[in-house]
Amino acid sequence: MDELVCQDLVELVTDYLEGALGPAETARVQRHLSTCDGCTAYVDQARAAVRASAALPPELPSAQAEAQLLDIFRTWAGQRDR
Ligand SMILES: [Zn+2]
Repeated sequence: MDELVCQDLVELVTDYLEGALGPAETARVQRHLSTCDGCTAYVDQARAAVRASAALPPELPSAQAEAQLLDIFRTWAGQRDR
């Protein structure tokens, strides 16, 4: 079985937090997290951001909140240039 690298985890983290990954992918993420302190901290931050977005004022359109959250994730992903 291929091991995840940190880059893979960054790309999977939103799906992971949403529970959108299949059992095999979830297991691979958890396996990586068990060996990688950096990604564990990253996932904790991402989870906190998801919770924060859920607590946003209701007048903020959810599509906008989602876009902001994606921006945050992109920033955390290392500000990759396109
Ligand atoms: Zn990692």
